[in-house]
Amino acid sequence: MTSSKDRIITALGFEGQVVAYIADTHDLVEEMRRRHDTWPVVTAALGRTATLGAILGSTLKHEKHQVTLQVQGDGPIGRILVVATGSQTVRGYADEPHIMLDLKQNGKLDVSRAVGTEGSVTVIKDLGLREPYRGSVPIVSGEIGEDFTYYFAVSEQTPSAVSVGVLVDRDYSVKRAGGLLLQVLPQTPTEVIDAMEKRLAALPSMTTMLEDGARLEDILTLVLGDDVQIVNEQSVMFACTCSKERLAGILQTLGHEELTAMREEQNGAELVCHFCGEKYQFDAFELQALIDHIHTNN
Ligand SMILES: [Zn+2]
Repeated sequence: MTSSKDRIITALGFEGQVVAYIADTHDLVEEMRRRHDTWPVVTAALGRTATLGAILGSTLKHEKHQVTLQVQGDGPIGRILVVATGSQTVRGYADEPHIMLDLKQNGKLDVSRAVGTEGSVTVIKDLGLREPYRGSVPIVSGEIGEDFTYYFAVSEQTPSAVSVGVLVDRDYSVKRAGGLLLQVLPQTPTEVIDAMEKRLAALPSMTTMLEDGARLEDILTLVLGDDVQIVNEQSVMFACTCSKERLAGILQTLGHEELTAMREEQNGAELVCHFCGEKYQFDAFELQALIDHIHTNN
């Protein structure tokens, strides 16, 4: 685990009728880029999803709870999968990290083309209940922010505004990353929603404000006015839950024949964790131990 300066603030505004979550996720998104060697448009797509994951993770009440965000579009990226936990960690990956597309006419990364415009956005919340909560909506634009705005409106019946962004530097490292999620409480008068939307429309993008040196607190004041009430502040960092034992369990599910072939033909096996890129080596003896274990359990 590396240290992280990332933080997420939860605040109330408009006399407590609007909840705002604002996140600086630079270190998280840069760590994902470094681990998965994502190229810019993938860094942006995965980073936007991870930023929303971090925000949703900050709402979890128990450290064992977790929320999974899955964006499955028909674009070249394939699937984006992000898991955030109640212990303020996020992990995730995109199926295809190496995609290069022309910039859009406005000079921005073409996230929509990379993700695709057909497909689904799914959120699974595991809150320690017997059945996890699962909501899914069709992809709207593939720009991620709009897709989750639609998800919140349709699947969670919560009118929301989402602004997420990743600014990639010339050397492909992450320069800025952050996000803002605004949600109105039920029965909020339309005037409040209109006022909030007006403020948002007048606002530059998250990455522009961060690039201009704005602190999260400054941005909250711009969005909510002077009546900002900060209710929570959390850190967030990249962390994976993989271990050699866990991957040994996955290896075992391959079965006797496959494992024996690996032992005889490759004299071992190397497994790579999808979520963090960590490599795990199993030598011939360890494979044999796994094979023996299958036998004793049958
Ligand atoms: Zn891992």
